[in-house]
Amino acid sequence: MDPRTVLITGCSSGIGLALAVKLAQDEQQRFKVIATMRNLAKREALEEAAGDALNRSLEIKELDVRSEQSIRDCVDSIPERHIDILINNAGVGLIGPIECQSIEDMQGVFETNFYGVVRMIKEVLPDMKRRRSGHILVMSSVMGLQGIVFNDIYAASKFAIEGFCESLMVQALMFDIHLTLIEPGPVVTEFEMKVYEDAIRGDYSKADPETADLFTHYYLRNSKAIFSSLGQTPDEIAEHTLRVLT
Ligand code: NDP
Repeated sequence: MDPRTVLITGCSSGIGLALAVKLAQDEQQRFKVIATMRNLAKREALEEAAGDALNRSLEIKELDVRSEQSIRDCVDSIPERHIDILINNAGVGLIGPIECQSIEDMQGVFETNFYGVVRMIKEVLPDMKRRRSGHILVMSSVMGLQGIVFNDIYAASKFAIEGFCESLMVQALMFDIHLTLIEPGPVVTEFEMKVYEDAIRGDYSKADPETADLFTHYYLRNSKAIFSSLGQTPDEIAEHTLRVLT
């Protein structure tokens, strides 16, 4: 059987990078991976991890999920725009008391975690419908099912994408397209590093002292400990995703 073409978003680090490598290095060579990232200057880590799969079963392309043009350019560059499997992995986080976050920051989370996925699906769905086959996966989160204190906006963006996908699922199935939501708990990646670093540098003067204290002293300290003791590795999530696809 010909390898299936898989497009993955957000492959510069973490789960996306691990997934791209896992599928590209598949011993049975069942996948041809198009690993995308918004900033190609960050491609080195993936190139290194991919080893000799690079340019054999893995190709790196630029794609920013916030830009319809960037998505279209990338999909148009794929022969016959043929994508068998789309993995929506790109995502950003935001933690802290909402009174200390700007509406622009909140909208930014939705632009990536919600509209980024919607833009991708909107672009590939017509081709998949025409071929009456395809598989779309979305890296949601356990926070797409259950809100967690100080993750209000992030959890809302994941709840939103869960609602979107669940609504789309019936239509997709009518065209033999599978839609899978993956909902990991904590995973040790750059994600929480970026989010915590931003949070540690944050200004909490707009929050009342009790809330600011709860966030900086209780939440930040404990959630970091939870990540380091309970967090899964990106490779474990990649392994789980491979099982979903095979
Ligand atoms: P990382 O921060 O390591 O990776 C996120 C990836 O998304 C990076 O490659 C980043 O690129 C990319 N990205 C961000 N914005 C855009 C954009 N506009 N266009 C294209 N790519 C973009 O985090 P993870 O690997 O942990 O996260 C991957 C997914 O898993 C996310 O959707 C996240 O919500 C989800 N998840 C993560 C959990 C965790 O605990 N880590 C738990 C549950 C779900 P760049 O390097 O340029 O910023």
